[in-house]
Amino acid sequence: MPTTTQTGTLLSVHELTKHYGDVHAVDGISFSVPSASVFTLLGPNGAGKTTTMEILEGIRDPDSGEITVFGTRVKRVDRTIKERMGVLLQEGNFEPYLKVKEVLRLFASFFSHPLPVEEILERIALTEKANAHVKTLSGGQKQRLALGAALINDPDLIFLDEPTTGLDPQARRNIWSIVTDLKAQGKGIILTTHYMEEAESLADHVCIMDHGKIIAEGSPQELCAQLGQETIIEFTAGELTEKDISLLKRGCKKARMDGEQVTVETEDLIATMEHLLAWAKDRNVKLKNMVVRQPNLEDVFLSLTGRRIRD
Ligand code: ATP
Repeated sequence: MPTTTQTGTLLSVHELTKHYGDVHAVDGISFSVPSASVFTLLGPNGAGKTTTMEILEGIRDPDSGEITVFGTRVKRVDRTIKERMGVLLQEGNFEPYLKVKEVLRLFASFFSHPLPVEEILERIALTEKANAHVKTLSGGQKQRLALGAALINDPDLIFLDEPTTGLDPQARRNIWSIVTDLKAQGKGIILTTHYMEEAESLADHVCIMDHGKIIAEGSPQELCAQLGQETIIEFTAGELTEKDISLLKRGCKKARMDGEQVTVETEDLIATMEHLLAWAKDRNVKLKNMVVRQPNLEDVFLSLTGRRIRD
């Protein structure tokens, strides 16, 4: 059983900082990660997510700040603490001519009490591939193997830095399912992602990071609720002028153009749709790919920063 504080907190950081010269990669962030939860750092490239993870994985030292892990306050994360952590390595780094079970045996040899390789194979749904060479695995299977290697020591705290980047939707869902099982077993998972759907599907708590700071946090539902009763209308249109957009804005709360993509926010969907259709007819705008949806985390980020998470 994990050793936690009374509140079930596996990890907490307070005012953590890391500067590279003038770059404030991590700029005084504080958060905590309870057991049986998925904690997510969401942010654009360069927000400071990986630096934060690497400090907590013991790869980099912070400049300042407090780290309390498994109930003990530490200056840096050392070997003893790492025994109870699992870190996902990027896929493709395994020797291609090793067999799947050989990779897991190799990782098992690094720890004093590893889980049986068969148990890991089952968890990552690769039992049938136990004797397959790494080079014959698909991208999704390689990533599941990397996850298996991270789980070999039965860690209490698991770090997943962009675990599904580059995977197809099915492979992504397979990883999500393993993450959900880990949470059900009481593990704490720290996930970074710039996929909104990933954070929305998995996260109990999201910290939105930008320029080294946490600019908003809460459950995905709480964060989206910050935008109130809004509905988002999106469509693409050919060339539009600033004047087109300013006329469109008369019938909604906000409207913005991003290349051919137009995003409209409204608190009165029917009135805005009436205005939008009349506007399109008057100005001969061809509305394409129209979607009406509730706000998501991308909208929260856009509303906070004026930028998209994935530019
Ligand atoms: P990504 O999604 O692209 O991985 P990130 O949110 O993980 O981005 P970091 O990799 O933590 O961001 O980088 C945060 C900032 O620190 C960036 O401006 C980056 O250029 C800078 N940085 C990171 N590592 C170093 C380093 N070793 N030396 C100098 N600057 C660095």
